[in-house]
Amino acid sequence: MTGRSLNLAVIGRQGSGKGTQAATLADRLGLHHVSTGDLLREAAAEGRESADVLRGYLDAGALVPDVLVSRLVAQALRASERGCVFDGYPRTLAQAELLDRLVDLDLVIELRIDPDEAQGRLARRRTCAGCGQIGAAPSPTATLVCDRCGTDMARRDDDDLTAVRHRFELYERVTVPVLERYADRGLVVSIDAGRPRDAVAADVLRAVHVAGASDLVPAS
Ligand code: AMP
Repeated sequence: MTGRSLNLAVIGRQGSGKGTQAATLADRLGLHHVSTGDLLREAAAEGRESADVLRGYLDAGALVPDVLVSRLVAQALRASERGCVFDGYPRTLAQAELLDRLVDLDLVIELRIDPDEAQGRLARRRTCAGCGQIGAAPSPTATLVCDRCGTDMARRDDDDLTAVRHRFELYERVTVPVLERYADRGLVVSIDAGRPRDAVAADVLRAVHVAGASDLVPAS
């Protein structure tokens, strides 16, 4: 690694906290956070990219076709100079091959979490329609109000049990081979994501530091 440009990918089962960890990491290192889930939800909300078809994939927890996802990633890459933290991408071998042509990944951070624990987290996850903040309700049926803007927070459509089971199955079948591909190149560090957020974030930062980006990682 040169320290001038750094490209990292955070990959983990839904509910592993990859969105939060990727955002924190990007913030700490001054990198561009590229979340394909966010890019796709934005495209659907703004009526771009055949929004109805897109919403169908998202609500069912199905994988959006590689060509469409990769187009959004390529657009997002133009905004990055110091490098990116990819969040939820690549999720298929075809996406990984495409990313290889765009950037050299320096490190892949795998967030490991027990499926039951992840399912419990997703059942309590709420998103604010006003400002996008993500929160955790005290129980799967409890309501939550955003402490930042006062809007009622809602459960994501794809966090219902059927969609979650489908997303978990896809993760094992389609995304784990992506991790294996990067592991063969010695690029993967696995972190136990079943712990409190700050403990996970500290380990993620340490892993990036160990991987050789000490000039980019602020001392904590
Ligand atoms: P996430 O916010 O990462 O859980 O992603 C939410 C949904 O967006 C997924 O269930 C998929 O429908 C879609 N999605 C996100 N990233 C990708 C990707 N790399 N490839 C295909 N579909 C994706």
